[in-house]
Parts: sequence; C-alpha cells; structure tokens
Amino acid sequence: METYDALLASVAPATGQGRTILDPATGEPVGEAPVHTVEDLEQAIAAAEAAQPAWAALGHDARSAALLKAADAVERSAEELAQLLSREQGKPLNGPNARFEVGACAAWLRAAAGTPLDPDTVVDDGETRAELHYRPIGVVGAIGPWNWPMMITVWQIAPALRMGNAVVVKPSEYTPLSVLALAKVLNEELPDGLLTVVSGGRDVGEALAGHPGIGKVMFTGSTATGKAIIKSSADTVKRLTLELGGNDAGIVLPDADPKAIAEGLFWGAFINTGQTCAALKRLYVHTDIYDAVCEELTRVAAAMPMGNGLDENNVLGPLQNRQQFDVVARLVEAARESGARILLGGNPAPDQPGHFYPATLVADIGNDNPLVCEEQFGPALPIIRYGTVDEAVIMANALDVGLGASVWSSDAAGARKVAACLEAGTVWINKHGAVDPRIPFGGAKQSGYGLEFGVDGLKALGVPQVING
Ligand code: NAD
Repeated sequence: METYDALLASVAPATGQGRTILDPATGEPVGEAPVHTVEDLEQAIAAAEAAQPAWAALGHDARSAALLKAADAVERSAEELAQLLSREQGKPLNGPNARFEVGACAAWLRAAAGTPLDPDTVVDDGETRAELHYRPIGVVGAIGPWNWPMMITVWQIAPALRMGNAVVVKPSEYTPLSVLALAKVLNEELPDGLLTVVSGGRDVGEALAGHPGIGKVMFTGSTATGKAIIKSSADTVKRLTLELGGNDAGIVLPDADPKAIAEGLFWGAFINTGQTCAALKRLYVHTDIYDAVCEELTRVAAAMPMGNGLDENNVLGPLQNRQQFDVVARLVEAARESGARILLGGNPAPDQPGHFYPATLVADIGNDNPLVCEEQFGPALPIIRYGTVDEAVIMANALDVGLGASVWSSDAAGARKVAACLEAGTVWINKHGAVDPRIPFGGAKQSGYGLEFGVDGLKALGVPQVING
C-alpha cells in the first residue's frame, strides 16, 4: 500500500453508498464506510467456512510464517494506518497513541506466531498415556470497540488465525475504517476468505453472536453488550472470551514518593485520553500524602498538550464521539455539584466542532459519587482520600467490575501484599495498564472471563482434545 489516500480508497464503497465517518477533532469527513448487512455476514461466514480447512491443514509452522509476513505488511503501511486511526478515532499520532497502536499490532502478530504450543502429556505412567491437544474451532467471530480498534482486533484475530481458525470481524460502527484498512493490509499475506470484516451495526453483531456457523466469539466492549452476547450465544453453546468494562482502582500507599509516581499515575489514567478499558479510573490516596499527590499530578497533567491528533505535538486528543463526551461532562458536573474540588480542567470550550474535554482532576470526592462508581471512560480522574489501607482495599473492591488495579509504594514487598487483596484480573505495582503479549490478560467479576495473550491466549482459541491410549 503506497499512500494514505490509496489505503482509504481501497476500503471505501462506491460513492454515495456508504456512511460518512467524521473526524472527532474537527467534525470534517474522514471517509465513507461500507454499510454491511446480515446478508453480507452470511457471505463472509460461508467464505470463512470454505477457507478454514486448508488453513488448518497448513499446521502451526506455516500459519506462523504467514502471521510474521502479515506483521511485516503492517509495518510497511504503518504510517498510513496510523494517520487513518488518528483521523477516525481521534488519538494523536504521538505519545502512547496511534503510532504506538499500529506498532502493537505488529508486535502481537509476531507474538502469536512465536509462542510455542506443544501437546501436554498429562499422564504417562506406563499404563495410561493421555495427551492434551488443541484443535481449531472453525470460524471465530471478533466483535470490537472503538477505543483501540486496530490493536484489539489484532488481539482477537492473531491467536485465532494461529490456531487454525478463520475469522469474521465486526468492528465498532464508530471506527470501521481503521479495522477495514488493517484487514486490507493483513489480507495481502492471507488466503482469500480467511479474514473478513463486516462493517455493520448492532444487528450484525447480534446475528454473528447467534450464528450456528460461528464456534467462538471474542468480544471486547461494554459489560451490557457482553451480557447480551452471552444470551444470543446460548442456543448454540458458543465459546466466549469476554473483555468487558472496568473501573480500575489505584491505591497510593503512604510510603510512596508523590513526585516519582506522578507521571506513571497520569498515563495510567489518561492513556488514550482516558478511553481505555484498563485505565486507572479511581485513585485512592493516603491522607498523609494526599495533598502532595494532588499537587504533583496536577503539575504533570497541566503540561500535557491536547488537540488535533495529526499535530505532532499533541499527546491527548478528543473523545471519540459525542455520547462519550456527554458521559464525561455529566459525571464531572455531578462531582462538582456534590462539592468536590476541581483541581484541573472541568470546563470544556463551548460550541467547539471537536469532542475535546480537558484533562480533569477532581479531589475531595466521596466514594459513592457517580464519577467514582460509574465508568467515565474519558479524561476525568477522581482522587479519593483514605485513612487506613484496609479501608482503601474495601473501597477498591466494592464495585462489581474488576479488570485491573494498581498499588503505588516505595516498598515492593508491601505493595504485593496489598495487591493480593484486590479483586482484579491484573494488579500492577507502580504502573497501571501495561499489557504485554507474553502475559495473560483478563477480567475478574463482571469485567469478563477468559484470558488473552501468551500460551493461555492461544489455548482459548482452540478446542481442547484429550487423546488417551
Ligand atoms: P459496546 O459494547 O457499545 O460495543 C462494542 C461492540 O459490540 C460494537 O462493535 C457494537 O456494534 C457491538 N454490539 C453492540 N450491541 C451488540 C449486541 N447486542 N450483540 C453483539 N454485538 C453488539 O462498547 P464500546 O462503547 O464500543 O466500548 C467501550 C467499552 O468497552 C467500555 O466499557 C470499555 O471498558 C470496554 N472495553 C473493554 C476492554 C477490555 O479489554 N476489557 C477493552 C476496550 C474496551
């Protein structure tokens, strides 16, 4: 793929037949996305069923080789992909944003290709020999959100392809162009029909989740949609991996150094302008260092430039859509009305074309405030004061979601003890939200079930089969 325009044109429908996607920074059109229907879904599933047996028959080594070539193809088109992602999603090119996301796509493809998965010999005692193998599932459905549209698609499809499956992807209706363009690039190295993107609405997602031709759904999105998918998948007893909403707590212990942790806290909360499943969304700070942490965090946050993602200087961008902007604005207003103290931000410019909400820090806020209890999914962090660590742990565990959490301290051993008390799929120490293709990732409680990444992530895209003889 040679230019940004060529890449965009390669996924656009005939003029007048698509849906216009607007740039969240400017309100200007980015391009037209095809509007696929349930009939298109049927065709994609039929093509996937036709392509899958030959792909499965290639074996792990040949499939891994194809994924490595697909990673190279992503790198060849990296700048065009990052530009499109920035315009459609809003995230800046720089910082942990668009270029970083495209880089992660290549990294996760290579990791899926390079992770060994040999059959386990479970018992071999002279009388019984039992081996555990993983067979392909068949056709996998991948349904994704709008916040990290390319990276999350790769998280879903790379292990699925590696394990010998075909994949039908249903991207978010907010960010279809990014996913269509990514698939276009990947398909330079994959057989026809193996990977198809069906760019439709909720009706297409629902039909995918209930379709008898789909053996497993990989879903990343809200907890409410995850529950709907559990229901639509029930009749066909589909396997599911559900990565759902989070409201991650961070606990700053009294021995932490406010200056040393301020930047890590900031990026833990504000990565992708807060639109990240496992971002730090509630910060609990011990009363002894509360004022110092507020001050350092305000200093770091105030220095971070926000604006159009194509401007190389910016590291924070707009919210992706007006609905999400409204959620953040409503929650900050609820906090303000309750008497909480706005340390920074909280006043978006009126009548702007883009969905920019400034980086906002809210102090002296009650633990039952909506900004604390509801997932804000945007650039507004509540900072709650606590007196004892037991009290902080109780508040952190009080919600019915548990994706990630973090503990911040100068004493790693002490922090690990607190980490073990937290009800979350991952607990980070002195960082928040770092993901790694070698390390399993998944939610506790209503943040979902199933693991992605590493060898556990590969196993989740296969059907376990015991050979006993
Ligand atoms: P969403 O649930 O609204 O939409 C996600 C996808 O589901 C979209 O493609 C949508 O079209 C599709 N969909 C909607 N209704 C459906 C149905 N009934 N059946 C099948 N598919 C359906 O989520 P969103 O607003 O795009 O994303 C934000 C949410 O995702 C946040 O809650 C965030 O925490 C969560 N998220 C979680 C992770 C994670 O790894 N746990 C990662 C990113 C985002």
